Amino acid sequence: TLYLWNDQLVDKNQIKIDIEDRGYQFGDGVYEVVKVYNGALFTAKEHLTRLGQSMQKIGMETPFDLSNLHRLLEELVEKNGLQDGMIYLQVTRGTHARQHWFPPADTPVVVTGYTKEMPRPASLMEKGVKAHITDDIRWLRCDIKSLNLLGNVLAKQEATKHDAFEAVLHRDGTVTEGSSSNLYMVKNDVIYTHPATNLILNGITRQVLLAVCRKAGLTVVEKPFTLDELRLADECFLTSTTSEVMPIVQIDNDLVSSGEVGPITRKCQSLFTSLIEQSCLV
Ligand code: PMP
Repeated sequence: TLYLWNDQLVDKNQIKIDIEDRGYQFGDGVYEVVKVYNGALFTAKEHLTRLGQSMQKIGMETPFDLSNLHRLLEELVEKNGLQDGMIYLQVTRGTHARQHWFPPADTPVVVTGYTKEMPRPASLMEKGVKAHITDDIRWLRCDIKSLNLLGNVLAKQEATKHDAFEAVLHRDGTVTEGSSSNLYMVKNDVIYTHPATNLILNGITRQVLLAVCRKAGLTVVEKPFTLDELRLADECFLTSTTSEVMPIVQIDNDLVSSGEVGPITRKCQSLFTSLIEQSCLV
C-alpha cells in the first residue's frame, strides 16, 4: 500500500512529519475526502476545486498544482488496487518554529494522503439512522474545510453517546448542518436545506444532489429551518461523501413522521446512485 507524501507515492515508513508541522500544532491546514467507486474517483474535480478554495480562504497561496495532484491521486488509487473506498487528503501550512503568525511565504506546504477500502453503507441507507440534537459551537468560518475539527468532534461524540449516527447542529434553534454532513428536511414535497453561507460547509454531495434534484423537477429551497420545523417534518436526511444520501428516521426520542424512510428521500437516493453509476461505470 502506498501513501501520498508531497509529490511522491511512498511506503508509510518513508514519510516524515515534523513535530513542528503546523497541521500538527495548530490544525493549520485543510483537507478533502474523495470517494472511489469501481476504481474511479467520483467528483474529484469538485473536491480539488474546493481544496483550492479552502487553501485560498486561509491564505495558503503557495503555488500549488491541483491537476498534478489529481493525477497523483489517480495513480495512488490504481497502484493500491482500490476498487470501492475513499481517499483522505490533507495540506498543511508546512513546518516552521512554532509561532502563531504565518511562516515565510516560501515555506513548502505538506501534503499527505492515503486510500482506504470502504463499501457503500447499503443497509443504513436502506433503513435510516438516528440523529441527536446539539448546539453548534463551531467558529464562524464553517465554509472552510479546515483541519480544526474540535467543534465537530465534540458534537459527534455527543451524538455517539446518545447512540446516534449524526448530530443535528443548531444555532439558537436554527439548524445548520451535521457534524460531518449536510442536513435536509422535507415538508409538503419541498426539500429544505441551509443556504451555503459561512455557517455550513457546502458539501460536494449537497451541490451535486441539489443540481440533480432540480433537473428531475423536485423543489429545493435553500433556506434555514428551525428545530420546531424539523420536528414537524415529513422526512429528514443527511448527505456526505461517505454517507451519500442517508435517511434520518429518528431524532432523539422522536420518530421523524412515521419513522419510515420517505418517498422524496428514496428519490434522492436513486438520483444520486444513478449519478455514481454514470460517472464511475458501476
Ligand atoms: N459538513 C461538514 C461539517 C462536513 O465535515 C462534511 C464532510 N465531511 C460535509 C458537510 C459534507 O460534505 P461532502 O458532501 O463534500 O462530503
